[in-house]
Amino acid sequence: MSQTQHKIAVVGTGYVGLTSGACLAHLGHLVTCVDVDETKIKSISSGVMPIYEEGLAELVAGGQSSGNLGFTTSLEEAVRDAEFVFLCLPTPPGADGMADISAIRLVVMQLRGLLRPGTIIVNKSTVPVNSTYMVQELINEPSVDVVSNPEFLREGSAVHDFLHPDRIVVGCTNPIAGERVGALYFGTRSPVLVTDPVSAESIKYMANAFLAMKISFVNQAAEYCDSVGADVIEVMKGLSFDPRIGQTFLNPGPGWGGSCFPKDTKALVVSATESGSPMTLIEEAINANLMHIDHITRLITRAAESSRASEPRICLLGLTFKANTDDTRESPALAIHQRLVEHFTNVVVYDPLAKVPESHIFNRVDSLVDAIRDADVVAILTEWSEFAELQPDLVASHMRGDTIIDGRYLLNKQDFAAAGLSVISIGR
Ligand code: NAD
Repeated sequence: MSQTQHKIAVVGTGYVGLTSGACLAHLGHLVTCVDVDETKIKSISSGVMPIYEEGLAELVAGGQSSGNLGFTTSLEEAVRDAEFVFLCLPTPPGADGMADISAIRLVVMQLRGLLRPGTIIVNKSTVPVNSTYMVQELINEPSVDVVSNPEFLREGSAVHDFLHPDRIVVGCTNPIAGERVGALYFGTRSPVLVTDPVSAESIKYMANAFLAMKISFVNQAAEYCDSVGADVIEVMKGLSFDPRIGQTFLNPGPGWGGSCFPKDTKALVVSATESGSPMTLIEEAINANLMHIDHITRLITRAAESSRASEPRICLLGLTFKANTDDTRESPALAIHQRLVEHFTNVVVYDPLAKVPESHIFNRVDSLVDAIRDADVVAILTEWSEFAELQPDLVASHMRGDTIIDGRYLLNKQDFAAAGLSVISIGR
């Protein structure tokens, strides 16, 4: 059986929209992506991707040459004759911590009168519960269905995740509309969970909150292991054999961040409190994360202060919140950098790909060797593979000091000790 081709408009051509559009075109659909950002649309149309994701540029080029994928800044043009309109719009935290859905409201208002009868609006943005009903009311068109279809792709493996999802979640009131949305993903061979809209919206928040809580747990466990003299890597390995715990997401690090976990956990805490069922575990996971970022900052500070240099040179390796993405939104590395430059004048950073906000001022160098040259302390904050491949002799010959804070547990302590370097990781 082959995929039936459908005409899809994707509104919002950011991380989720561009990936979704390119992948849906790859699955055989006829897709037009629209965005208000003219520069972004021009740049994508000419083959320059606004984000780094493995395989994305190739999929976009393939979609453009097959005629399955197009880009525009005109909403009207994008949705003309569309059977499905995907909303991939930003939902940043509002003043109260709850997701701000004003971009969605605005676009839905603009869609009024533009859609042909029977069109299905598919919301991929992460939105507070009841947003599907809100959109249905706002569009005010009985023949147009609104379906919640939260996105679970991970930055760093977005294309792979979209094409091989663990599950497709579809929240709808009209089962026929839900089934039609599930069928769009026919080519991915993934299980489809069709449920009600509020449950679908909740699944997305609960999934992110659970994962954030899991990392906070592992990072607190690392601090505990430090205090009692256990090895957190061994401890987590021991846990990983238990299928109830699972084998993944057990890596300690400098704290969680990114464009989703921080805002989604905050939004869930506000929503849960408002609903009368506070999720105190998630509040604690957020606090634990902030304390962990402080903890690792203190480690770097102490190492720098105990170096013999009067103006210690601190080298931070990695700015993105995880490897294989250029995204630095809410990255713990940025927070750590910010705190360090308040106390030290000589902080140098290196990241192979990071796109940094213009508001942050960095002393950034273009090569790993330039970064570690003359450093008194090196701190690894992102798990880029080139950091895991650092050779002890090379590091020893370039550093002035001898301390490496390995926030990602990449280095072999013994090998570095043999080269005269001390590798410190929390809980090891
Ligand atoms: P993004 O900021 O990368 O992209 C949003 C895009 O929407 C931008 O290009 C922006 O210019 C565009 N836009 C804003 N207003 C518009 C309008 N009125 N008309 C057309 N375009 C408009 O955001 P993102 O990371 O893609 O996130 C989108 C949604 O998906 C959010 O709700 C987010 O929580 C959710 N989500 C994100 C990820 C992720 O890893 N980034 C994963 C799953 C879910």
